[in-house]
Amino acid sequence: MSLPHRSKYVVIGAGIHGLSTAYHLAQELKARGKGDGRDIVVLDKTSVGAGASGIACGVIRNNYFQPAMRELMAHSVSVWESDPRTYSYHPVGYMQISPEVMHEGCASIYEQQKVIGYDSVFIEDEKDCANYMKGLFHDWRAQHITSVLHEKRGGYANNMRSLKGLAGKAEAEGVRIHSGIKVEGFRSDNGRRAVTAVLTDQGAVACDYVVVGAGPWIPRIWQMLDLPRAISIKGRDGRLHENVRMWTFWSLQEGTLGVDPSYQRTNDGKLPPVLHVDSDAPLYSVRDGKLITEKMWGIYYKPDFSFGGVQGGAAPYPIESEPEDVRVDPYGPESPDYIVGKDFADMWVSALSHCQKRFEDTLPKYRDEPSGGIGAFTPDNFPVFDVFRDNVYVIADSNHGYKMIGVGQLVAQEICGEKSRLLEPFRFSRYAEGRLHPVSKSPFPWS
Ligand SMILES: Cc1cc2nc3c(=O)[nH]c(=O)nc-3n(C[C@H](O)[C@H](O)[C@H](O)COP(=O)(O)OP(=O)(O)OC[C@H]3O[C@@H](n4cnc5c(N)ncnc54)[C@H](O)[C@@H]3O)c2cc1C
Repeated sequence: MSLPHRSKYVVIGAGIHGLSTAYHLAQELKARGKGDGRDIVVLDKTSVGAGASGIACGVIRNNYFQPAMRELMAHSVSVWESDPRTYSYHPVGYMQISPEVMHEGCASIYEQQKVIGYDSVFIEDEKDCANYMKGLFHDWRAQHITSVLHEKRGGYANNMRSLKGLAGKAEAEGVRIHSGIKVEGFRSDNGRRAVTAVLTDQGAVACDYVVVGAGPWIPRIWQMLDLPRAISIKGRDGRLHENVRMWTFWSLQEGTLGVDPSYQRTNDGKLPPVLHVDSDAPLYSVRDGKLITEKMWGIYYKPDFSFGGVQGGAAPYPIESEPEDVRVDPYGPESPDYIVGKDFADMWVSALSHCQKRFEDTLPKYRDEPSGGIGAFTPDNFPVFDVFRDNVYVIADSNHGYKMIGVGQLVAQEICGEKSRLLEPFRFSRYAEGRLHPVSKSPFPWS
């Protein structure tokens, strides 16, 4: 398939956002009599799923402290539910299990889930939480837990299978996906802001509209679009904070315990919900009994046949270097710089054991293989969905986003002229105007 010299719509990146936008845009154009999938090309410098979407743990949940994030996630969950087979979606549910410091926040999430009709159960009080958890897992033993939010929808999906499913749906609509094409710049004519061509290592593609879904490579594309390296933010204190770095990389810590995935079943033999546990209980090492931390810690885990074990992660850490000094390539497990180390295995498996007795002797089964990956985060760690340079739609999900399969549908509707109420809280202007999202007490930057 040769690269066309012109395409009405050029999508950069064949991850979850690029593919979802391409597929839904093809449908929207057709439904409105404005064209179809043949008007769209997707360009990826490597191939489908070569970025964060292809290595994501795949967790899909609604649990967010920010009302705007919750509404957006509820929409995305309904897109996952619309075609579970093609998206390789497992609707096992999701649980947020928390200590007292997060109790009030989780209670408000539950209340608001009721308002938007998102099915969940909320358990309070240490004893009731322990009983509820033991009703699911006989060996539950986590301490200091005073609230459990059990979301009945959500769960997880298999990363590459879902992307291939999405790519197949897009191609069936006539979208062309070109692998091995690297975008190196943009052309604008006669001093205008709008982009008139995408410049690649294999020639220019003239276009009317560009969609950027570049995941952790967004800082580079942002620079190519001449967008600011640092911005001003009106803080919650009402003061203007100048010169705040636009992008910061975080390194995500994930790994797999090489046990049979069936090792982690509920008492009645079913596949369990994805568990996310935050705790302020002291955490001791299963390796040598030493104290790992007395500060807040958090983990998530699920049995996963695709990863071949119990897979999950812990809180990420920020990479202090300037974004331009961070080597994004080679990406993911191939990176020489950003893969998890031995400390992660000890912390994560010790935390699993803190929660469930069945994991107490499993450290030797931890799969000693490169895992993890990096993500590019915005100044407030929430997504930016907005149009820049008049005709470039940037989907920068601040690493929240494998679960956000529905964003591409909303973006496609916006490209076709509709304004999305769900995307509105994520405009770039929120920084200058001080319309910031509330912040939770979770140890994770994405809760
Ligand atoms: C280890 C890990 C686990 C995660 N787990 C979860 C999870 O459980 N649930 C969840 O919701 N989110 C999770 N995330 C976050 C999620 O994976 C990302 O937010 C999301 O996948 C980003 O999707 P994307 O389409 O924007 O980018 P990507 O999937 O990264 O795709 C970007 C694509 O753009 C291409 N590209 C980049 N630059 C260029 C260029 N110049 N020219 C052409 N092509 C280019 C790349 O090759 C890549 O294929 C996880 C992230 C990591 C790193």
